[in-house]
Amino acid sequence: MKKIFLSMAAVGLLFTACNDDSKEVSQEQQIDMSDFYVYTDSGEDLSSKSINSKESLKTCYSMEVLNRQLNENPGLEKKMFDIEYKTRQFIAAKGGSTAKGKPGGGSGGGEADVDVSPINDGLGTINIPVYVHIVLPNANDVTNTQVQNQINVLNDDFNSTNANLLPSGATNFVNDATITDIHFTLAGTFRYNNSASSWGTNDSVKAAYPPITPETHLNIWVCNIGGGILGYAQFPGGNSATDGVVLLHSSLPGGSAAPYNLGRTATHEVGHYLNLRHIWGDGRCRQDDFVEDTPSSDGPNYGCPSYPTVNCSSTDMTMNYMDYTDDACMYMFTDGQRNRLRPIFATGGPRAAMAGN
Ligand SMILES: [Zn+2]
Repeated sequence: MKKIFLSMAAVGLLFTACNDDSKEVSQEQQIDMSDFYVYTDSGEDLSSKSINSKESLKTCYSMEVLNRQLNENPGLEKKMFDIEYKTRQFIAAKGGSTAKGKPGGGSGGGEADVDVSPINDGLGTINIPVYVHIVLPNANDVTNTQVQNQINVLNDDFNSTNANLLPSGATNFVNDATITDIHFTLAGTFRYNNSASSWGTNDSVKAAYPPITPETHLNIWVCNIGGGILGYAQFPGGNSATDGVVLLHSSLPGGSAAPYNLGRTATHEVGHYLNLRHIWGDGRCRQDDFVEDTPSSDGPNYGCPSYPTVNCSSTDMTMNYMDYTDDACMYMFTDGQRNRLRPIFATGGPRAAMAGN
């Protein structure tokens, strides 16, 4: 694994050396990719976490799906490295910080609070049209109202117009909630009656009902995944034939998957689809989510944690959408996450066509 990372780093250096513009060269030389990783731990060590059987339902399968896709597609790791490199290069060019995101490593109380400003990336408001494919024995079980409410939740969550639920005393994070200026519009709902009782996580639902113009549209499949899994997404860079997000049907607003039925499984999975990692970095304290203003943690949090919840010597941002807490107890992306996800829409970015670039 280390060998691969080193060779990837060499590719970055070569790219730098070939650039004629001395100004850009100096900028590119500052892009530190030493923390880049793609493969993740297959299982979380939850021994130190307080969870009950109900809470253990909260499972996103995006990282396992990514591991599988990396094995199936040898070119994907390089593609994701390039996307990460360009993302950091874009942020740096716009005056943002690409420092590795491990704040809060101080005295154990999480006092360290990194404040990142939203960069002016020149990309403006980004509108994403959404196709929803409902695949169930009775596809009418998910109503048009639920689908529209799900779109509304995405818009509220990505633009901080939701009802925030700041835990008492969580002053560290009170100024970190961001407005991503990414908006979602329902472009079409398709219903397919299919007697399959579950679809698993091997993209079979996408093979049966392929995405429609995934270059310009977010495709969401709503079905029974099975295995207690709430959803999975494909990161930027993956195969367009499987691009999009799969959601457990009962996770949509008003569904039966309480406490995960307020529509925030979609918010979390669309976060992955837009290049966000889990807030704990999927690798204990040693790995990060590539975001500066999200504290390190050693694994997901569940339920509705009290504040402060301290792991890896810093206070966890348990209310971040990229954690695993109850839908009612998560309410924010950070400015750092905003800065990280928007560059994928820039010219040359993996979702540029979606923004008309
Ligand atoms: Zn996830």
